[in-house]
Amino acid sequence: MRESALSGFSVGDALPRLEDAVARRVGLPHAVATARARTGLFLAVRQLVEPGREVVLSPYTIHEVVNMVICAGGVPVFADIDRATCNLDPAAAQAAITESTGAVLATHLHGLAMDLEPMARWCAARGIALIEDAAQAFGARVGGRSVGSFGDAGVFSFGMYKNLTSFLGGMLVTPHQEAADGWRRARSSYPATPFGEILGEMGRAASTDLATWPPLFRPLVFPLFRFGYLRGIGWLNSRVTVESNPLAREGEPREYMVQMRSAQAKVALDRMEGVDEDVAVRIEHARRYQEGLGDLDALLLPPWREDGSHTYSYFPVQFEDREALIRHMMRSGCDVAAQHLRNCADLPCFEAYARDCPQARLTAASTILLPTYPRYGVEDVERNVRAIRCFFGRNPGGAVFS
Ligand SMILES: *Cc1c(COP(=O)(O)O)cnc(C)c1O
Repeated sequence: MRESALSGFSVGDALPRLEDAVARRVGLPHAVATARARTGLFLAVRQLVEPGREVVLSPYTIHEVVNMVICAGGVPVFADIDRATCNLDPAAAQAAITESTGAVLATHLHGLAMDLEPMARWCAARGIALIEDAAQAFGARVGGRSVGSFGDAGVFSFGMYKNLTSFLGGMLVTPHQEAADGWRRARSSYPATPFGEILGEMGRAASTDLATWPPLFRPLVFPLFRFGYLRGIGWLNSRVTVESNPLAREGEPREYMVQMRSAQAKVALDRMEGVDEDVAVRIEHARRYQEGLGDLDALLLPPWREDGSHTYSYFPVQFEDREALIRHMMRSGCDVAAQHLRNCADLPCFEAYARDCPQARLTAASTILLPTYPRYGVEDVERNVRAIRCFFGRNPGGAVFS
């Protein structure tokens, strides 16, 4: 446990303290803790968008985000993404605006923040709400301004795989007093997150921590997953894939309408002071990938920024024959995975909202996530770089192998 300047207060105070700390960090007057980011997205859309109005969003996101828009009374309108950033393409978003548009929902995927200032001005001039899904981008800043602070509502996730985690949890931030009051009122009727759910997440976190613990990972866990992957064994693969069976929802998603517990808020508070350090390590890992892979024309790399706007929760690279590259990586002893996000604009469960989003379709079929998590070793990053270069027939110096 980190020495904390905050230790000493009772756990019962942790929730308002976490809200204050996030509000201060983000630079907004209001922060309201939620059980999950998806709960926050639901509340934001319900508060800011009149029922039946359209919400323009990226189709390259978890399907539950789309469900929250629908459950809150919005009509999702998918606009295509910019392949390099994997984020909403501002021109496509503008083209999708109609007189029925109630909001634009912009996602900062993989910790790569969009510069939302032009979009914020554009939306404000038309009376359209701007909501930021910053679930993967806590800690990212654009021009000194925190993600989540550009529009009318920002949503963070403190879920298990996010860069600030309380196993489950989230935060809504807003410049609007009225919105914050509405969310607090709604929240006051929710029960606390069941202990069983938190324990389940803690169990998963502990088994992931244990599984990725270097003395166990190299000799045992990785060979097992590699075996499963290369032989196509379903139950082993399902341990590392998510969202295998997306379904559409309607109405208020009851199981998400719960509150974060003080004990969870205490966990997030204690970990918050480590966020900047973790982000710095992720950026250094990203630098090594960038320098090692930047000359490979067949790979599409994310933009390289070291100004704090890109926090690289992964280093996502795109390659057309993704399966061949992953197999090669697995055989070379590298633990990389496909990004399993789907193009929601093509999902059968959202057929009613189908749109042709060719960039999202290509991205969903070709993205590989290279690890950047703070415990990941520099030598592992370098092994990944070497293996990818070998796949493309290039040695580390850049020359083609004979
Ligand atoms: C994780 C995630 C969410 C949902 O976060 P929860 O806290 O699990 O509800 C929403 N959007 C994006 C982009 C995410 O990565």
